[in-house]
Amino acid sequence: MDKHKGNLFILSAPSGAGKSTLYKALLKQDENVRISVSHTTRAARAGEEDGREYYFTDVESFLDMIAEDAFFEHAQVFDNYYGTSKASVFEMLEQGIDVILEIDWQGARQVRQLYPNAIGIFILPPSLASLEERLKKRATDTEDVIQRRMAKAVNEMSHYDEYDFVIINDDFDSALSQMSSIFMAMRAKTTVIEQKNSNLINDLLSL
Ligand code: 5GP
Repeated sequence: MDKHKGNLFILSAPSGAGKSTLYKALLKQDENVRISVSHTTRAARAGEEDGREYYFTDVESFLDMIAEDAFFEHAQVFDNYYGTSKASVFEMLEQGIDVILEIDWQGARQVRQLYPNAIGIFILPPSLASLEERLKKRATDTEDVIQRRMAKAVNEMSHYDEYDFVIINDDFDSALSQMSSIFMAMRAKTTVIEQKNSNLINDLLSL
């Protein structure tokens, strides 16, 4: 049996760009893609399940994992720690599954250092106005909080050019089809085909 290797994708976007709706739709239509479940020290919100949205853990265990070098990348966001464990990602890649890391630009930089073949995709909203509209729809926050979120979003967007692909999420179907095409195209790369189909290639060249 050939040694299968999936592709590692980094997906980033400012909050309000529609990233989770997009990747959830992709996961539904493409069985070969999974999202990596992160560890966090923040408390689970209503409706969240351990092992589904996150692995919920305490600070002590999280720090132990950092000391054991168990994280691919980790970051402190607000007052909590977040991190992607190496084990979860590499097991899936070895099985030939494509893995999505849903992380911000800082996490993305750490991942690229360790795994230069990671493929970065950045989702942009079609306009600042639409971003603000989506952020406002989300919660009953004050204008002040919304403006802070907008500033954070603009900061995140300023890193778009560190990614291999950019998708402007104007029309949902078109954005989904672009994302799906990127996944398909990456599977057809010569280096990936060589690894996944080495027996076939040996046969074809063995006359
Ligand atoms: P939330 O607490 O709302 O689920 O997430 C807060 C922030 O943490 C989001 O910006 C999210 O992208 C980020 N985040 C979630 N998981 C990880 C992770 O494993 N690594 C990094 N670097 N950021 C993460």
